[in-house]
Amino acid sequence: MSWTCPKCDRELPWKDYRHYCARVSLDSVFEGRSPELLLAFDKILAEVAEWEKVLIGVTPNCIVFTRRVGFLIIRPTKSG
Ligand SMILES: [Zn+2]
Repeated sequence: MSWTCPKCDRELPWKDYRHYCARVSLDSVFEGRSPELLLAFDKILAEVAEWEKVLIGVTPNCIVFTRRVGFLIIRPTKSG
């Protein structure tokens, strides 16, 4: 049974799960990054979203996929 934090609206595996407690938009993580990167992420997201019990958390510089424990962290890097 997952739990939604009342402060940041983040869906978490259980109550009081340690997390980055602030609302961050996915767009802001990819701001200034190449469109190809966002496209690649979209494909991963579409794939992972179909898995069971996977929660997706967004922090200012990365996206964390959680299934009881974090198993995939996507951290876009700035490149030329
Ligand atoms: Zn929170």
